[in-house]
Amino acid sequence: MNYTPAELEAWDKEYVWHPFTQMKEYNQEKPLIIERGKGSYLYDIEGNAYLDGYSSLWINVHGHNHPDLTAALVEQAQKIAHSTLLGAANVPSILLAKKLVEITPAGLTRVFYSDSGSTSVEIALKMAYQYWKLKDVKRYARKNTFISLSEAYHGDTIGSVSVGGMETFHRIFRPLLFERIQTPTPYTYRMRDDGDEETCKNDCLSALESLLQAHHEEVAGLIIEPLVQGAAGMITAPKGFLAGVRNLCTKYNVLMIADEVAVGFGRTGTLFACEQENVVPDFLCVAKGLTGGYLPLAATLTNDEVYQAFLGDSAELKTFFHGHTYTGNQLACAAALKNIELIEKNRLIESLGDKIAMLESRLQAFRELPHVGDVRQCGMMVGIELVKDKTTKEMFPLHLAVEHSVILQARKLGAIIRPLGPVIVLMPILSMSEAELKRLLDITYESIQTVTHSAFAACSI
Ligand SMILES: *Cc1c(COP(=O)(O)O)cnc(C)c1O
Repeated sequence: MNYTPAELEAWDKEYVWHPFTQMKEYNQEKPLIIERGKGSYLYDIEGNAYLDGYSSLWINVHGHNHPDLTAALVEQAQKIAHSTLLGAANVPSILLAKKLVEITPAGLTRVFYSDSGSTSVEIALKMAYQYWKLKDVKRYARKNTFISLSEAYHGDTIGSVSVGGMETFHRIFRPLLFERIQTPTPYTYRMRDDGDEETCKNDCLSALESLLQAHHEEVAGLIIEPLVQGAAGMITAPKGFLAGVRNLCTKYNVLMIADEVAVGFGRTGTLFACEQENVVPDFLCVAKGLTGGYLPLAATLTNDEVYQAFLGDSAELKTFFHGHTYTGNQLACAAALKNIELIEKNRLIESLGDKIAMLESRLQAFRELPHVGDVRQCGMMVGIELVKDKTTKEMFPLHLAVEHSVILQARKLGAIIRPLGPVIVLMPILSMSEAELKRLLDITYESIQTVTHSAFAACSI
C-alpha cells in the first residue's frame, strides 16, 4: 500500500481514537507517527530519531528491533502462532510457566496467563475472592471486598478500576464499580513538610492496621504496587513499607496481591520489586516488561494453597471459570522466554547498578531547578514533580498545560517522554547506554528549565 506522510497524518486523525488522549487537542497538533525503532531510538515517518525515554510506555527492556527477539518470533511463527490453552497445552507456555516459577519469589508455584496488566489484576481479584468461598463459604461469607491504596492504579477494566484510586481517571465510573476500602498512600512529599519518610511509613501502616482491625472479616485481599506507585506519579514508598504491608496481611488473614505490572522485570533495579524487602505475595501480577515490549502477555502467579482450593470434581463447580481467547499465545510466550534468556545472558540486572548510581547523581541538579518540587527515583524509574511554588508546593494551573509543553519541548530536542499529572516521568529502556541516559537527562533538564521559566512568567502577568 502506498501512502505519503501527509496521508497517514490525515487518516490517523480521521479514523483512530487514541487511548488516554483528548482527541480535540490531539487533532490540532502534529501527530507523532512512529515507523520503526532500533536500540534506544524511535524513528518517525519523516526519519527523525528520538530517544525512547519512556520505554514505549514502560515495556521495552532490551531495545527496539532486537535481532534475537525477532528471530525467536520468526522461529515460533514458522511452527504455529496460536492454539488455545482451554483444556489443552502448548510448548512455549509450559516452558515460560516453569521459568517464571523459577525466577519469581519462592512459594509462587502456579502461572495463569492473560493478555494485559488489567486482566492479570482481574484474575488475581477473582481468584482471591473465590478462594475464600471455596475454603469455607460460611465462615468467609463476608470476605467480599478489597483494600487498595488511595492513589492506586491497577488498570482500566472495571474490576481493576474498582481497586483504583486515581480521581481523574476513575471518578466518572464510580456507579459501575464495586466497593473497596482505601488505605493511605505513603506520599512523603505531599504528606510531610519535613520529608520524614520513616514517620510517613509508620503513619500509613498504622492507618492500614486500624482498617484491618475493623474490617478484616470483609476483606478478601489487599492489592499494592510494590515500591513504586507508577501511574499515580512515580510515588516511591518509604523503605520497609512493603514488608510492613505483608506482615499486616498475614496477621489479619488477608491475601496480598503484588501488582508488579510496571515495576517487574528489572525496573526497580532487581528483577522483581518484592525481592528488595524479601516479600512473598500470595499473587504476583506481571505484564508490561514480560515480553521485553514485543507482544501483549500477562501472568498471574499464585501459591499452592490457593491452587489446591480450586481442585475438585467438575460437578462441584470449583473450577476457575475465567479465560481469554488468546490466553497463553505461543508467539507472546516465545518472546517472553527470549526476553528472560537475554536478561540472564546479558547480566542485565547486574548491569543496572552503575546506571542507577549515575542517574541518582545527575538527578541532584534537577532538585536545584526553581520549579522542581520533588525528584523521586527507584532504580530505573524516575518522577520529577513540577510545582509553581517550591515553598507552598502549589502546582501550576492546569490550563497552562506545563507538563505537556515540557514533553513537546523534549520531543523537539530528540527524546520522547510522558508526564503523569504534574510529574515528568523518565522510564528509560534498561539496555540504554550511559551516554544515552546522560543525553536523556540533559534534554529533560533543558526542557523543564525552559518551559517552567516561561510558564511562571505567564502566571505572574
Ligand atoms: C500499566 C499497569 C496496569 C495495566 O496494564 P495494561 O497492560 O495497560 O492493562 C496495571 N497495573 C499497573 C501497576 C500498571 O502500571
